[in-house]
Amino acid sequence: MNQEESDELRIENLPELDVTPDISGYVPLHRDILEDFQKTAVSKRVEKSLEEEISYIRKATDDHIKAILSNQESGLSDMDHYFFENNLKALESLMRAQNDLQIWRNSVDETKKLIVQTSFEEPDYTIENFKDYSEKSGNPEFGDNIMSNYAVYAQLHQSEGTFSNKLKMDETYHYLKNVAFILARPEDPLPDDVADDELAISGGKVSLRDPLSLEYYREPYVSLRCSHIFEKDTIYSHLSNSNLCPVSGCDARISRRDLKPDTIMSLRVKAFFMLEKSKNSSSNVDKL
Ligand SMILES: [Zn+2]
Repeated sequence: MNQEESDELRIENLPELDVTPDISGYVPLHRDILEDFQKTAVSKRVEKSLEEEISYIRKATDDHIKAILSNQESGLSDMDHYFFENNLKALESLMRAQNDLQIWRNSVDETKKLIVQTSFEEPDYTIENFKDYSEKSGNPEFGDNIMSNYAVYAQLHQSEGTFSNKLKMDETYHYLKNVAFILARPEDPLPDDVADDELAISGGKVSLRDPLSLEYYREPYVSLRCSHIFEKDTIYSHLSNSNLCPVSGCDARISRRDLKPDTIMSLRVKAFFMLEKSKNSSSNVDKL
């Protein structure tokens, strides 16, 4: 065996990778394993462009919703429906790709550790025993390890429902998913939330009124501690004398910092008044 061939098998002589493997250069690796290794080098650019695409959708959605809320006259156009449907699909698949990529990275890292660990248990690499190394049948195939680790991770993530939770907690996704429903039925609980029972539901309807002033919301704020919703002004003035949620039976301690604008409720109120208006101005609207 000549020197050139043995150099080729050393990891520092690999063609440039986007992700530098963290296995030390002295670890001897079978050519097949090195090739498998190269295949796992997922470009950082992929990760970055996923992030960029996702933040673009978030921004576009925010802008679109602001535009709908600021326009007092019209309801949703076909274009709006098209926008929400397509961005919802795009956001879900981008987030899924991001999630899968993370699982993949974890499985690669685990496998690298395994290889390094295995190499410590082997005798030093010399010209004399090179043939043994290169033909070693018990040597775990990197690619196979990745795949089996990946299967384990995928199973884990599936059983924990991590990804569906991630989607559920994502504000943009939640909004895109429900905006069409809200605009059509502003007082109905969202299909996803019916089981949660956390909304202020009266007679199966969502209240569009501040529980303190009993006026329709103009600037609804939601408590992150207990999910109760209030008009900004009334809850702010309540909190100047108290640090407890004013809803009876709710013991949550809240401060201004626990409140954030409730964009879903804003949309409900807006949609409610748009529907009322069209009911009054049109005689062939189906009244429920
Ligand atoms: Zn509360």
